[in-house]
Amino acid sequence: MGPRRAEDLGRLGASSAGELLTVWPRRYQDRTRLTPLALLRVGEEAVVRARVLTVMPRAVPGRDVMAQLRVTDDTAVMEVTFFHARFLLRRFRPGQELVLIGKVSKRGRYLSMAHPEWEEIEGQEPLDIVPVYPLSGDLKQAFMRQLMRMVVPGLAAQVSDPMPAAILQARELPGRAWSLRAIHLPRTIEEQERARTRLVLDEVLTVTLAIQWLRTRERGPGAGRPLNTTGPLVTRFRASLPFLLTGFQERAWAEIETDLQRPAPMARLLQGDVGSGKTVLAALACLAAVETGLQAAFMAPTEVLADQQARVLTRWFEPLGVRVECLTGGASRELREAVRLGAVGVVVGTQALIQDSVEFDRLGVVVVDEQHRFGVRQRSGLTAKGHAPHLLVMTATPIPRTLALTVYGDLNLTRIEGMPPGREPVATVRRTRAERRAVYQEVMAAVRRGEQAYVVCPHVEESDEGGVRAATSLYEGMKTVSGWRVGIVHGRLDSEAKAAVMEQFRRHEFDVLVATTIIEVGVDVADATVIVIEDADRFGLAQLHQLRGRVGRGTRPGRCILVADPGTEEAEERLQALVDHHDGLELAEIDLQMRGPGEVLGLRQHGLQGFSLANPLRDLALLQDARNLARTILEEDPELRHPEHQGLRDRVVSALGAALPASLLH
Ligand code: ADP
Ligand code: MG
Repeated sequence: MGPRRAEDLGRLGASSAGELLTVWPRRYQDRTRLTPLALLRVGEEAVVRARVLTVMPRAVPGRDVMAQLRVTDDTAVMEVTFFHARFLLRRFRPGQELVLIGKVSKRGRYLSMAHPEWEEIEGQEPLDIVPVYPLSGDLKQAFMRQLMRMVVPGLAAQVSDPMPAAILQARELPGRAWSLRAIHLPRTIEEQERARTRLVLDEVLTVTLAIQWLRTRERGPGAGRPLNTTGPLVTRFRASLPFLLTGFQERAWAEIETDLQRPAPMARLLQGDVGSGKTVLAALACLAAVETGLQAAFMAPTEVLADQQARVLTRWFEPLGVRVECLTGGASRELREAVRLGAVGVVVGTQALIQDSVEFDRLGVVVVDEQHRFGVRQRSGLTAKGHAPHLLVMTATPIPRTLALTVYGDLNLTRIEGMPPGREPVATVRRTRAERRAVYQEVMAAVRRGEQAYVVCPHVEESDEGGVRAATSLYEGMKTVSGWRVGIVHGRLDSEAKAAVMEQFRRHEFDVLVATTIIEVGVDVADATVIVIEDADRFGLAQLHQLRGRVGRGTRPGRCILVADPGTEEAEERLQALVDHHDGLELAEIDLQMRGPGEVLGLRQHGLQGFSLANPLRDLALLQDARNLARTILEEDPELRHPEHQGLRDRVVSALGAALPASLLH
């Protein structure tokens, strides 16, 4: 094979012959279900096979050249049109056999298809179920099929089966070699489905094994300690809160509390939509640790957020005589020393908490906020600093239960199902860039009412991507508006400057805060009611939902204004989804469908290679099966040392790749 083709294949993930086996077909053409032209109905999607009768170029003013074909299968004649077809024209000739897939319409006398997916049938194509491969560069579908037909049988035959025979027998699943062959060269759809099921199980079992394997290691050594969750500190704290916990929060706390009272370390994922009130539950857990004579560590994803949580906890805990400190990158020796000696009850911080120089006297509770920002490694880095501390992971990413269980290993799941009272959904509207003047008049009106606003931009400085509103230039512009007090915060400021600006905004010394996405998670300012998101199409759905959650947190209703001229259909859908849906879970499902699980669940950040074949929404049952299987396997053979588990171990190790601490590789 020439270097060009090899490079194109490399981009599909195949840089060696063996890897061709896992360049999965995107879908299949079922040529056993061809529709004769005479039976086509207007409006339906159809697969037809037909012979080209005539090829006519047509010059269309302003639209380049149109190609118009007449094709027949001897039952009827159909017209096929392609626009912008100057170079396509050369590829069609009378007598050619084509498979066409497209929507049937009617043009004058003839049935027709506009821009169908098409393919020439060359020579003998023995298969009726034809795979459709992803393409890259100059690769052609016909070449890919030919290549696979040539190499798959030989390569597949050499593949060893990682799955213990008993597991396959119990599920009546075929071997891996057979399945690899059948997914590329199926004789029937049933064969293809059987093969896919088997290969998906390989994939999900590998991922679940990898996660559970890591989870058992992040517990840290030794047995845990039961905590006193009903002592005077906890009681006084609850009485001092300016609000009552909602029924949802009480229920969630009951689950957490039960875990904390046990000696076995808790491993719990607390999931609740943006603004549902997770922090107060984490505070209770931290206080239970202090009450028991232990320390608590609270890890937040950004300095802004760590700083804010430290303030909240200080405000809550200081009256109780519990010392709270914020430990970020530049923490003093004295502070670290105080932590090491146990003089600080609750340590809030960023990833800096994981550094070797940070030691605890007796760490009893670890809280990890906004989980999706952290990898497995960071989490275990922190729990390893204690003797099997209780772990509470908090996330606003609402993912279906089974999926959560898979991705987060054996974390137990607690959900806060609803919001604190008086919250109304944030009214969300879309505006074009041309309407920006009206948008800022709205902001002005809000400021006049004594409210505050966020203006979020995707970038800090004006970039060369034409017209993206950069934070600094917006800020400069707004400063000139009379009567507005404007602040700016972005990732390029040092942490003190960031904290200072946030504090000023919190104290309502600014009316408007221009920001990049560093305010995305968790920031809580009650007077902020309006958030304008400039170039909103640049953000992901989850991010937009998080950003929107920054307003409407007080008693006044919030408003979110998305400013964008989306250039793609996908961006269009994303923005509309945000206008139409307010429930994080619904949005997550939409996001999952639009982007796939790797992105949504942060499998990437976890350092795990996600799924390539599995579709976690469609394959939930298989995921469930894999989860139970993984647990059984690890109970029986925690290190995967049995000879029959060797294949699985190899797969787990390579899936973990970079996420795997070197010490576990041996
Ligand atoms: P998140 O779950 O997004 O982390 P927070 O914990 O920051 O949300 O809570 C959002 C806001 O709601 C905070 O200002 C918090 O003090 C407030 N809050 C939490 N619980 C209640 C409650 N039961 N009643 C009223 N306000 C509450
Ligand atoms: Mg939060």
